Amino acid sequence: MLTKIEPFCGESAEKAAEILKNGGIVAIPTETVYGLAANALDENAVRSIFAAKGRPQDNPLIVHISSFEMIKPLVAEIPELAKRLSERFWAGPLTMIFNKTSVVPDVTSGGLGTVAVRMPANEAARAVIEKCGFPLAAPSANISGKPSPTSAKHVFEDMNGKIPLIIDGGECDVGVESTVISFNENKIHILRPGGITAEMLSEFADVEIDKAVEAAPDPNERVISPGMKYSHYSPRANVFVVNTNGEAFIKFRESRKDENAWFLSRGDYGSGFVNFGETAEIQAQRLFKLLREADENSVETVYVETPDKSGVGLAVYNRLIRAAGFKVVDE
Ligand code: AMP
Ligand code: MG
Repeated sequence: MLTKIEPFCGESAEKAAEILKNGGIVAIPTETVYGLAANALDENAVRSIFAAKGRPQDNPLIVHISSFEMIKPLVAEIPELAKRLSERFWAGPLTMIFNKTSVVPDVTSGGLGTVAVRMPANEAARAVIEKCGFPLAAPSANISGKPSPTSAKHVFEDMNGKIPLIIDGGECDVGVESTVISFNENKIHILRPGGITAEMLSEFADVEIDKAVEAAPDPNERVISPGMKYSHYSPRANVFVVNTNGEAFIKFRESRKDENAWFLSRGDYGSGFVNFGETAEIQAQRLFKLLREADENSVETVYVETPDKSGVGLAVYNRLIRAAGFKVVDE
């Protein structure tokens, strides 16, 4: 199959919608990462997503809508808190989990009785959903396990020959996947951190962060277990999170003898370092791109100065620690 990349415009959005209406899959930009989209209510179309990504069947997909009306047939009820959050954070990078109706196929929800729903803000994503008139399941458009795509080029690297069309909307604004939350009584439970932060959500209700978000093995060990089975977002290069900052990270680099390593620093530390970005927002935008670039440059090892975990930094840390297979160097 020939995979075309077309810049987002009315015509390319129309073309994408035609493919989707016929049960096909296409890649679309969103403000988080690029998504591999199919009709969320068409079992066969959704199966093609799992096949193209090599995604495990029990990993449920997020259903993307372009208007609040679209959520109504999908969910059994909308809690008052969810309604208030939708008013504040939709359209945007917040995914909420609801009890589903039978309209949502089991393949879409990974066999769960719940469904994850999000209204993306990205203009191209919204245009394509609107033209379809049905919600789109759209996990990240990468091969399962690899770093998520934040540009059309990244999607092409992973999906060339597997899908007919990639809509090019430039680089993603946020750069990491959406915040995923569920509701526990009147509390907000963060399952995956993202662009909508715990701090932002805490204005609406008590927030608890799932243990798995930061789960790392014993921090007292120098180099901690490879934990390969938990790795995700991983480049070929071997990634380590280095638990130091500033001067100590500069000294850490001097102490390493690795010939073919990158040292990702939280700012411009001069030659020998790759600038990961001074703010968490910039780090989120650059993370997956830098991991892919490390592979393009045949880098063997990537050492990353540990990010600050506040705000969007928690999402950066969550992705990074998985890309590293939980390998942390404690200096
Ligand atoms: P992706 O679309 O690849 O960004 O991944 C979707 C994320 O949302 C994964 O972490 C899923 O496990 C999670 N997710 C989707 N649907 C549900 C659900 N019904 N319950 C819990 N988590 C979900
Ligand atoms: Mg993904």
